[in-house]
Amino acid sequence: MLAGPLSRRIGDHKVIDDRDLLEGLAGDESHCEPRMPDLAVRADCTDDVRALLELADKFDVPVTPRGGGTGKSGGAIPVLGGVVLDMTGLKKIVEIDRQNLLAVVEPGIVTGVFQEAVEDEGLFYPPDPNSLETCTMGGNAAHNAGGPRAFKYGVTREYILGTRTVLMGGKILKTGRRTVKGVAGYDVTALLVGSEGTMGVFTELTVKLMRKPPSLATLLVRLPDEIAGGRAVARIVEAGLVPRVLEFMDGIMVDVLRHTGAGGIEEGTGALLLAEFDGADDERVEADAVRLAELCENEGAVEVLMARHGGEREKLWAARRILSDSIKERSAFKVSEDIVVPRSEAPRLLEGLRTIAKKYGVMVPSYGHAGDGNYHTNILWDDPDFDPVPAVCDLFDLTLALGGTITGEHGIGMAKREWLSKEIDGDTLALMRDLKKVFDPRGLMNPGKIFV
Ligand SMILES: Cc1cc2nc3c(=O)[nH]c(=O)nc-3n(C[C@H](O)[C@H](O)[C@H](O)COP(=O)(O)OP(=O)(O)OC[C@H]3O[C@@H](n4cnc5c(N)ncnc54)[C@H](O)[C@@H]3O)c2cc1C
Repeated sequence: MLAGPLSRRIGDHKVIDDRDLLEGLAGDESHCEPRMPDLAVRADCTDDVRALLELADKFDVPVTPRGGGTGKSGGAIPVLGGVVLDMTGLKKIVEIDRQNLLAVVEPGIVTGVFQEAVEDEGLFYPPDPNSLETCTMGGNAAHNAGGPRAFKYGVTREYILGTRTVLMGGKILKTGRRTVKGVAGYDVTALLVGSEGTMGVFTELTVKLMRKPPSLATLLVRLPDEIAGGRAVARIVEAGLVPRVLEFMDGIMVDVLRHTGAGGIEEGTGALLLAEFDGADDERVEADAVRLAELCENEGAVEVLMARHGGEREKLWAARRILSDSIKERSAFKVSEDIVVPRSEAPRLLEGLRTIAKKYGVMVPSYGHAGDGNYHTNILWDDPDFDPVPAVCDLFDLTLALGGTITGEHGIGMAKREWLSKEIDGDTLALMRDLKKVFDPRGLMNPGKIFV
């Protein structure tokens, strides 16, 4: 019903019904079951998006926006069928304003491509999800993405000044501002950021930039065990050091890396820390790096490697970059969660993970953004009959008991809907549902996500 009028409005070539092409838009990087959409739209301007959302509302068809498809919670999966709205055709950098340190971009631009473009101008866009070579700015805004640099610079929400957002039915909102400050009315931009495509579709984002820090130092610290690693992280934070990156890989993760032969992990390594400082002043950056090395040595570090420039720094990043793939090779099955605990609770979390591993006879390696208390915790198993759900339940119970949250970056999507009510009380959850209805009264905008 929808395909004909849509083709007439936006052009045949943007409306996809070829099964092979639709199959490529059915899943994402989560463990959620893919679902074929009935149709896809390859939008390349706001008017295309508006036309689709007008007609979808009229014909009662659900629409699921999609960026790079790298999401880890099933957010871009069209769980009720309908139309997948592929946003990767809206990929222009509309403006880079050097004087006011901001940029206006279309949401389909790949994050790493945007970062390179601003860095070529001596500017800097800090949010850096590890998927930055394939994820999009729109997906980052929808999931309020974090990344290794969040310890110093914060997450995506802190950089989104404004949006152009199309609502189901075709209404276009212009939210936010271009100024550093601004408190006029409710902060609708902040509400839309992190709404996982369930309230509207971004077709433009205004983002804050910084001057590119010219000086960098990267450190890779080999520690004898994860207890020493946990203590080292605590000392670094207590000392008031603010590396832009502070990443941790636990003992089992180190074993996983060693097992795959990747990353050049030497014997005697029981945990790894990767840290990176940046700043305007070489001497200051070097002094902070040396101080971090001393603190780690006091906690028993076996070796601290430091690099200041391109290729050498990249070598230190090698182990971190291959973690995700190494885990995939280690076992037949895995689920991967991104829990966060208050930093001070990290030792109790690690201890609890060992208990869960023992109870269920599985491996539970974790790694991630230790500076933020954000751990990518994986449950690995080989037995096809093993049901991971009770182990995941224990993991979330442990996280919440420690005062944490069940997702720091990846969002609720389809994957964690059943668990949201464990974390959010009934009244707040009801308010969230009401907010969704204000933007999307008929429930056609990315249905089946966040709420059960
Ligand atoms: C190897 C790997 C590493 C990762 N590392 C990180 C990390 O360090 N930090 C982190 O936060 N995440 C990380 N992720 C998860 C993922 O990359 C992020 O969630 C990312 O923000 C998703 O962007 P995307 O463009 O791929 O979005 P998609 O997966 O396509 O979609 C994600 C959500 O955004 C919505 N959406 C997409 N575009 C729009 C739009 N224009 N308007 C409204 N809604 C939209 C979709 O409906 C969906 O709900 C990683 C993933 C992988 C595979």
